[in-house]
Amino acid sequence: MKCPSNTPPRPAHNWKSYWKQLSACILLPLLSAQTSLAFEGIAATTQTTRPSSEVSEQLELQEVVDAAYAKYKDLEEGANADYIPILATVPSDLFGVVIATKDGQVFSAGDIDYKFSIQSVSKPFTAALVMQQMGPQALLDKIGVEPTGLPFNSKMALELYEQRSANPLVNAGAIAAVSLIQADSESDRWAQIKENLEDFAGTQLSLLDEVYQSEYETAWSNRGIANLLYNYNRLYSDPEEALRVYTQQCSVGVSTQDLAIMGATLANAGTHPLTGKLVLDRKHVPELLALMATAGFYDESGAWMYSAGLPAKTGVGGGIVAIVPGKLAIAAFSPRVNQAGNSIKAMKAIRFIAGELGVGLYGANPED
Ligand code: GLN
Repeated sequence: MKCPSNTPPRPAHNWKSYWKQLSACILLPLLSAQTSLAFEGIAATTQTTRPSSEVSEQLELQEVVDAAYAKYKDLEEGANADYIPILATVPSDLFGVVIATKDGQVFSAGDIDYKFSIQSVSKPFTAALVMQQMGPQALLDKIGVEPTGLPFNSKMALELYEQRSANPLVNAGAIAAVSLIQADSESDRWAQIKENLEDFAGTQLSLLDEVYQSEYETAWSNRGIANLLYNYNRLYSDPEEALRVYTQQCSVGVSTQDLAIMGATLANAGTHPLTGKLVLDRKHVPELLALMATAGFYDESGAWMYSAGLPAKTGVGGGIVAIVPGKLAIAAFSPRVNQAGNSIKAMKAIRFIAGELGVGLYGANPED
């Protein structure tokens, strides 16, 4: 259909053809302009005229995932975490990249089905459960929401800050979050935490028992943290129980695809895109994302926001998930981590995708 250049279509003799013309010349371009805004970064970097159809957006999401995978596939910087002995045995070259949209479409490259331990990526999801059970004020009062600027396992942070646990994304706050879950037994506490992770993922998840054994046998640092919190009245269950359930939580096996879908549930305002289950009330999602933005990378949170500009959470198992609120999630996995315990390849892949899509919260900032 030919559209008049500047003038809107006028009703001629027949309303049917008027409507056809109106929708082709005004409504469709309006709609597609809106959707392509979300992905304006791709358009800026890969072509001069913006794609308008859903199909080309899908192609672009797949293209950008493939590009991130190809760009970083051979990078060997960093090393597997080994303070949890079994993590050192995970094949270091594994690498997966996945985008999941808020309506559940998945675009992926690499080892996206390999199950690795979720580790600290579990922390925001259990914080979400605390909010769901007790409200955001309880999270603020009983744990805290301040970034520490210190490593995830810092004991010094406990002494420095009056709130002790600091925030639910460092070990102290995460162990406190586990202790806050409204449970009548240890097995009930664990069941609720596991079920909540499964609700976010929309699938059953399993404990990686070898990871649990390896971490619990060597959990002296986290045991110290749990006991210190208890000493300061900032732990709300028996310390050893909180430590065990926290260690189980960290040992849940997820794939890169699971992580992306868990993130997509947050991108979709707390409702799972495929099961339709409301997992976190819409009104609490911004609070949770704010925590991820300020503390998701521990003492590297500033550098992460400076570059990628997205709320995200890392885990020492090599997984990371980042959220583009209202749109999509980007997850990546690679076991080699840096000094802060953050996966180098996963970080780079997500930052690259965020830049290419132009979806950073503070504006589009493609990599130099
Ligand atoms: N389970 C790990 C620990 O407690 C989680 C740390 C992490 O992923 N950064 O040390």
